[in-house]
Amino acid sequence: MGSKVWLNGELVDRADAKVSVFDHGVLYGDGVFEGIRSYDGKVFRLEAHVRRLFDSARGIRLAIPMTQDAMARAIVDTMEANGLKDSYIRAVVTRGEGTLGLDPNRCPSPNVFIICDKITLYPQELYENGLEVVTAATMRNHPNAVNPRLKSLNYLNNILAKIEAIDAGTLEAVMLNHLGYVAECTGDNLFIVRDAVVFTPPISAGILEGITRDEIMAIAREQGRTVREENLTRQDLYVADECFLTGTAAEVVPVVRIDKRPIGNGKPGPITRQLAEAFQQRTRE
Ligand code: PMP
Repeated sequence: MGSKVWLNGELVDRADAKVSVFDHGVLYGDGVFEGIRSYDGKVFRLEAHVRRLFDSARGIRLAIPMTQDAMARAIVDTMEANGLKDSYIRAVVTRGEGTLGLDPNRCPSPNVFIICDKITLYPQELYENGLEVVTAATMRNHPNAVNPRLKSLNYLNNILAKIEAIDAGTLEAVMLNHLGYVAECTGDNLFIVRDAVVFTPPISAGILEGITRDEIMAIAREQGRTVREENLTRQDLYVADECFLTGTAAEVVPVVRIDKRPIGNGKPGPITRQLAEAFQQRTRE
């Protein structure tokens, strides 16, 4: 565990990194966050993460009391203060301390904190042999309720689906949207490959616009592949040749079983492998 936390402009010891129980982040999940990786002492896609954090904040009408540049610097400073080269960084902005009512206007100063920790990955075995997932009964948040594009502190929708995954003996669950189309997993975006074409649900399906997802689409196109952002049904997953998940922490994880049905030949696919390798290379550039 890294020992220094950036809290409202200062690097403090982990034991002193505290916010009030009256913070609306605690009382209502009123706030936004980012999960970021560093590789060999360099923060990966820092600008994209900072931009998404500010977009999420704007989406909930939360004014972050610093510039995007200052946020980016604070993230790098936190990583350096913890002396971790390969790390997972969590940047959080809460609505701040207020009254017991919902009114965000009664929370005069947001709390900003940045944690830098060792990265915990899926077990290595899953990258080699693939992950099993199930479809959750809990549907993804309706985009007109809490839009999944907002990376908010209110992750109960995902947590409920994660519980279903764990109950089924798996580590991830596929979440469908209000129309029954595939949205994403609880903490990762989803891709399939069919006849060498790479498919992933569009943003309009109600998903987080994953930074790894963007990167994978760009890599696939550079490799000369056709990439299509299209609505997918469960049937599309079941008949796919390959399936994989993408996320900052997970990177690219092959999926080999969905709802107990083997995908393709039940082993990680060749296109998944090529995309995963190219992604890993990019993280080291
Ligand atoms: N979907 C959800 C719900 C997530 O929380 C995340 C991030 N953990 C992702 C997708 C992947 O996004 P990114 O590639 O930007 O980490």
